[in-house]
Amino acid sequence: MSEGLVTVSYIGATILFILALGGLSHPETSRRGNAYGITGMIIAILATVLGPEVSVIGIVIACMLIGGTIGLILALKVQMTQMPELVAILHSLVGIAAVLVGFVNFMDPDAALQFSGAEKTIHEIEIYLGVLIGAVTFSGSVIAFGKLSGKISGNPLILPARHWINLGLLILSIWLCFEFMDQAQAGGGVIPLLIMTAIALAFGVHMVMAIGGADMPVVISMLNSYSGWAAAATGFMLSNDLLIVTGALVGSSGAILSYIMCRAMNRNFIGVIAGGFGTESAGTAGTSSDQGEVFPIEFEEVSDLLTAAREVMIIPGYGMAVAQAQHTVRDITKTLRDKGVNVRFGIHPVAGRMPGHMNVLLAEARVPYDIVFEMSEINDDFPAIDVTIVVGANDIVNPDALEDPNSPIAGMPVLECWKGKTSIVLKRSMASGYAGVQNPLFFKDNTRMFFGDAKNSLDSVLAEIAK
Ligand code: NDP
Repeated sequence: MSEGLVTVSYIGATILFILALGGLSHPETSRRGNAYGITGMIIAILATVLGPEVSVIGIVIACMLIGGTIGLILALKVQMTQMPELVAILHSLVGIAAVLVGFVNFMDPDAALQFSGAEKTIHEIEIYLGVLIGAVTFSGSVIAFGKLSGKISGNPLILPARHWINLGLLILSIWLCFEFMDQAQAGGGVIPLLIMTAIALAFGVHMVMAIGGADMPVVISMLNSYSGWAAAATGFMLSNDLLIVTGALVGSSGAILSYIMCRAMNRNFIGVIAGGFGTESAGTAGTSSDQGEVFPIEFEEVSDLLTAAREVMIIPGYGMAVAQAQHTVRDITKTLRDKGVNVRFGIHPVAGRMPGHMNVLLAEARVPYDIVFEMSEINDDFPAIDVTIVVGANDIVNPDALEDPNSPIAGMPVLECWKGKTSIVLKRSMASGYAGVQNPLFFKDNTRMFFGDAKNSLDSVLAEIAK
């Protein structure tokens, strides 16, 4: 493939990626957005592999087959509930790729001869930054994977003087950058590069370990952004314009997502990254025993309440994903709407374990988009709601976030369902949610606990209301 054709293909792929992002911004257009993204990626891969830069195509195809097969097996095997951790581990691969490309570029004798003067300096800075961002992304994402899959505790690891440690690591990295540039002029520099890599890896681990459970959404979106910048840095190192543009698109959309997450959780971005929130007061979480009595409910009564209601709100949470109850939720919604009940959905921005998690599940179950509302759109409506069904949600409906300044989730806006007439909470036990805090909602007079697996519980309700 000629250089000109490669450039045209890259421009086409860039346009398709931008259209993909536009499409993904709304559930109704998201399938189209996905199709644009897939087409753009196929064009990008073909243009790169068949382009003049690749001389040994056999090796590239062999590597793609190995990687593609592993990816395919993983994609077929992964459960919907494991998607967040899969995304985290995929981010780590982008990070390690940037580190490896950085080192290979640094060791490539041709690259050293290719550049001189200012261009050489810029190339070295690209290598240094690429390895730095890549290493932070890699180790941070591995820890995020561990936290999301429950292999590492969600509790924040608070080292004494952690802010000073972070500051020290930053200053050391800047100093090492100058050392690296100095030594690279004389053909050396590997030692400062290796030390910086070790520091960046340690920083990634420390940064994510120090973050409390409830603040993880910000970290996920931030690592998403970092993976984009790591890809862009790789693009600079390889002089690949498409990789630069694609990396920048991922990096900036991840940054916007982090901002949206911070705003949704009423957090300060720097504060979260510095481990300042969701950390200090983790020990103040209440226990189930000191909060009073709970009122259990059975499916017949739930069905009666639902069919007698005029306004019903459904709040899905992580437990709906675990139980895979979204299809039953859709059927209940349809049955109730057919009976004239106004059923709506209230979605918290951090519900589940990844941004947009609940929207994906509801879209998969074909719940109509026009009855699915963001928290900010419907939170004032709760006083007029007859019955709220909380399907496996916990932290996102915790009144302590508003009422207890010592709570680890203090300040986070939540869905204020307790202001409605009755809340029915579906969960299996009195266990806490991701943030590890007890929830006073469960002990309120107008709350009923519907214990059991959400899908089984809702199946019995569906059978009853459909009679
Ligand atoms: P939570 O984790 O707070 O609560 C989920 C609840 O679901 C649990 O209390 C659990 O109780 C219940 N549950 C689990 N399985 C089932 C089942 N099969 N049937 C019925 N209930 C079940 O989830 P939320 O969605 O309320 O809040 C999300 C939390 O995750 C927030 O703290 C958020 O910060 C965090 N987070 C969000 C991310 C994102 O991007 N959205 C990323 C990382 C973290 P029980 O065990 O008793 O059944």
